[in-house]
Amino acid sequence: MRIYINSILIVVLLLVCSNAIEAQRKTENIILITLDGVRIEEMFGGLDLAVIKAATKKGKVEGTALYKTYWAATAEERRAKVMPFFWNVLMKRHGSIAGDRSKGSTVQITNSHRFSYPGYSEILTGQAHDDQIKSNDKLRNPNPTVLEFLRRKLRVGPQKVAAFASWDVIDWIVESKPGTIASNAGYEKYVSPDERIADTNRLQFEARTPWDSVRSDAYTFRFAMSHLRTYKPRVIYIGLGETDDWAHDERYDRVLQTLQLTDNYLKQLWEFLQSSPQYKDRTTILITTDHGRGNTPADWSDHGSDVEGAQYIWLAAIGPDSRLRGEWRDSPTIYQNQIAATASSLLGFDYNEQNPNAGKPITKLY
Ligand SMILES: [Zn+2]
Repeated sequence: MRIYINSILIVVLLLVCSNAIEAQRKTENIILITLDGVRIEEMFGGLDLAVIKAATKKGKVEGTALYKTYWAATAEERRAKVMPFFWNVLMKRHGSIAGDRSKGSTVQITNSHRFSYPGYSEILTGQAHDDQIKSNDKLRNPNPTVLEFLRRKLRVGPQKVAAFASWDVIDWIVESKPGTIASNAGYEKYVSPDERIADTNRLQFEARTPWDSVRSDAYTFRFAMSHLRTYKPRVIYIGLGETDDWAHDERYDRVLQTLQLTDNYLKQLWEFLQSSPQYKDRTTILITTDHGRGNTPADWSDHGSDVEGAQYIWLAAIGPDSRLRGEWRDSPTIYQNQIAATASSLLGFDYNEQNPNAGKPITKLY
């Protein structure tokens, strides 16, 4: 009998402790943002002089508009010229970023392909499926994603877990069962009661990018913001895409300009979150990329299984549960397949339930 009472006591104590651990977690909402194919070179060092030197055929590199706009002596100054809000506000006061290899921190993908669908699928399912996912074709993701998992665990309607992306294929990646979550990607009308976006809806089809499958990030961002205001989702994924396409087109100027615009989107998003009782101090933002790119002036615009450097990515985390600030230093390597479990864990759910083969949560973060 005594043993029986003791074991009841132990069970009660364990329940109290696990509740206490969950109660300490402040995150109630997750915002996942991806910037397609943004290299660690630009993320941590801003303007890469080697790239514009190789591209400058006539005259001195110092005479170029890019140099005049973005050059500074140190990596810290250069990157803050491209993304001032991210570095001077978010990273100083609210979050941290892993992946600066010069500081002893590496973030790597585990899929071998080093292009977009395998990367997004690894982020969203927590696992590389090299034999199954090996093209960017519009094929339904056969594996359930963390977005589908979280909608089930949170017991909320489809509008409360949403995905907005510039690249149309993302519609096919974010859910294995169509209709599980709200999803809008590529040149697609966003159906919403918000009258403020009626013009934006029309404009996306009139003011087109050079690419058939990728609309301007300006639309994706505005639809996502409208969704945040209208439906107050618990989980939203925002996939910005232009950085990759400008890089493929070797428009280094547009890559940096797009990052600068993205920085302003982050500022607008942050100001909205701070103004909303549901989100303020209860939201973790994870920002990452699907793949890196080549690390020389000859292949910076490219990526793929044989491109050295494209396996290296970065991950930023901003939110109330992490005390880390700025760049990670001298840390063990973390992996793209850990992001799904990390997002789940921040909301108090064990992603292992859906996918035991997924990477484990990044415990250094909280
Ligand atoms: Zn690409």
